[in-house]
Amino acid sequence: MESYARGELAPALLEETIAANFARTAAVHADREALVEFATGRRWTWAELERDIDGMALGLMAAGLEKGDRVGIWSPNCAEWTIAQYATAKAGIVLVTVNPAYRTHEFAYAVNHSGLRLLIAASSFKTSDYRAMIEQVRDQCPTLERIVYLDTDDWAQLVESGTAVPARALAERTAALDPDDAINIQYTSGTTGYPKGATLSHRNILNNGYLTTELINLGPDDRLCIPVPFYHCFGMVMGNLGCTSHGSTMVIPAPGFDPEVTLRAIAEERCTGVYGVPTMFIAMQNHPTFAGHDLSSLRTGIMAGAVCPVEVMKRCVNEMNMSEVSIAYGMTETSPVSCQTRADDDLDRRTATIGRAHPHVEVKIVDPMTGETVRRGEAGEFCTRGYSVMKGYWDDPEKTAEAIDEDGWMHTGDLAEMREDGYCNIVGRIKDMVIRGGENIYPREIEEFLYQHPDIEDVQVIGVPDERYGEELCAWIRMKAGAAPLDAEAVRAFADGRLAHYKVPRYVLVVEEFPMTVTGKVRKVQMREETAAKLNL
Ligand code: AMP
Repeated sequence: MESYARGELAPALLEETIAANFARTAAVHADREALVEFATGRRWTWAELERDIDGMALGLMAAGLEKGDRVGIWSPNCAEWTIAQYATAKAGIVLVTVNPAYRTHEFAYAVNHSGLRLLIAASSFKTSDYRAMIEQVRDQCPTLERIVYLDTDDWAQLVESGTAVPARALAERTAALDPDDAINIQYTSGTTGYPKGATLSHRNILNNGYLTTELINLGPDDRLCIPVPFYHCFGMVMGNLGCTSHGSTMVIPAPGFDPEVTLRAIAEERCTGVYGVPTMFIAMQNHPTFAGHDLSSLRTGIMAGAVCPVEVMKRCVNEMNMSEVSIAYGMTETSPVSCQTRADDDLDRRTATIGRAHPHVEVKIVDPMTGETVRRGEAGEFCTRGYSVMKGYWDDPEKTAEAIDEDGWMHTGDLAEMREDGYCNIVGRIKDMVIRGGENIYPREIEEFLYQHPDIEDVQVIGVPDERYGEELCAWIRMKAGAAPLDAEAVRAFADGRLAHYKVPRYVLVVEEFPMTVTGKVRKVQMREETAAKLNL
């Protein structure tokens, strides 16, 4: 049999905007709890949340933002993030989600590339001084007119100015939106040295959030603990839109991931579900206080984002009470989920595969050289097609055409196998992306950055095995003639404040040459083996 499968066609796709879908939920569940910020104890019913979303949407209109304009958000998880997500969707403004780990180099790129007019930002969080970074590059960002800092009066002032805008104007704006309009840009680490802006529509993300949580049977009595970041689809689509499309309560445990606080939030808020990338579940399960938390309210949840170890899945079932836990696989460009396990799958399918094709999407595995669909059980590139495929990369038709072929198939760059029963497994990557603790890193981006160092002649970056993070970065560097060799500390100092910390190579090796193929391609596989041997990894 061929490695082709298509998901079920029920339930039907939602053919409405995010705003229309939210309004239906808020009307039905008005007085029930919609959103909880565990760290601060702040709470919203659906009616209160709708009121705050409308206030923010009117404020954005008062600030002169038109349909299709871009507004960015650069902040760890908080209730205002959620409010901004729905306020922008309601006013037809494209929300650009900026990774809170970004530093000036990446931030300025995202602002200019998407043409941000207004930015909502945290002032600071832990070691990130957003205000200082914004000030540092602000004069390089000509489109950026206004910054709304979250922990100041800025937000209240914006909402206050919105009281001058008639509610009718917002209602008219919302009514004129089309589900196919772009409403979100998410930057993913680029293969060409710069991040790419995956551009997603209402139809893309509303349906993916809705269907992902349909498959874990989420309903109005469910309370979902969301420790995964909102800047990424896992938080804002599978989490927020997954909840708002079902009237389920969103529980934000903390601004950044903290295993102990997440466990406490589950116990004290009586959460019925929890999300996480594998490293988050590992951190919770290995936390010294793990056994002391009452997790009896849990029933379900989703693990995704990187290969999900069977043993960690089993501990979710056996020790966290998540008898209906699910694995999802996807990528930002596909809204994100395209495969998921089902609640009634047996334990093997639920813990050892990424599931089968998602409702309404097609999946095939092809030979990366010929493009032919391979037979079941053979490895090849995972491709998917359907409503979930992004509109394209923002302002980059060339990169879009490389990723989505003329028949509409998104080529993921992941190597997968489809079993006889249609369930799939990820076995590797064609692209040389590194996943460090759930963060995706394209070596090319780091290489481009390091090329800027005056003493570096050439550089190649690879992922090497690491017990704690799964993978760590290693840079092989060829120095310019006469330049003193760099070490990891010197590279770190060069990247400090300009590159997200997780992208700074942990290991640096100065070499005379790279292993090359006859056609001039660097042999990264050989580099990985040599590095592992040399560093004893
Ligand atoms: P992102 O665009 O950040 O969502 O990252 C997408 C990439 O993460 C995919 O192309 C895969 O390489 C990886 N990924 C996501 N989910 C899984 C999973 N369940 N198993 C293995 N790899 C995954």
